[in-house]
Amino acid sequence: MSGIAYDYMEQYIRGLIKDHNGILNELEDYAHNNFVPIIHKEVARFLELMIKMKRPLRILELGTAIGYSAILMNISSEGKASITTIERDSKMIELAKNNIEKCGLKDKIEIIQGDCLEVLEKLENKYDLIFMDAGKGHYNHFLPHCLRLLSCDGVIIADNVLFRGMIASDELVERRKITIVKRMREYLEIVSDNEKFVTSVIPMGDGIAVTLRRD
Ligand code: SAM
Repeated sequence: MSGIAYDYMEQYIRGLIKDHNGILNELEDYAHNNFVPIIHKEVARFLELMIKMKRPLRILELGTAIGYSAILMNISSEGKASITTIERDSKMIELAKNNIEKCGLKDKIEIIQGDCLEVLEKLENKYDLIFMDAGKGHYNHFLPHCLRLLSCDGVIIADNVLFRGMIASDELVERRKITIVKRMREYLEIVSDNEKFVTSVIPMGDGIAVTLRRD
């Protein structure tokens, strides 16, 4: 369990969500058996909901891993969304490519290999939805680029923003995670304490923050 919500509550909420079948179910099993961190079940459902509400045509994802969330987002858009996803780990890229090919989504999901910050600096297209799920200690550094790349009415969804509760409570902070915690707090302060944005932090999964431009 995540350490963010009461276990009984999380279990109950997860129990309400029907299991996926097919490739998404296979990828969930693979991730579980091989300790690959993918989005929590309730976060997957939330992304699906956001995609059905916002109908983004262009999505940028930071952190591909085995391609699970990218595939889920494409399926949630009924195949309409094109996704660009950034990953630095070659082994993950290999796995993600195979999974994407298996789903016949090679034309819809593009993986860019590299460090998110370096890749973000070079990107120029606009995106309707940006999903941050890599490099927790750098969300504050990714943010200016994400804002530059976000379409006018786009949305940024950042995962792991409560980081096992450490972001909300000094008592939970592990010594070697202090820098990540400081930077994540800075991220949340910028997106929350600025009249240009509307942000909602939701204690779901490992914590998500949803940000829109106010205008
Ligand atoms: N979004 C994926 C899903 O739910 O299916 C899970 C992504 S996993 C939590 C984070 C991934 O980001 C890992 O595969 C890791 O290698 C990659 N990563 C971490 N920091 C990164 C960085 N600075 N640049 C690029 N990739 C990074």
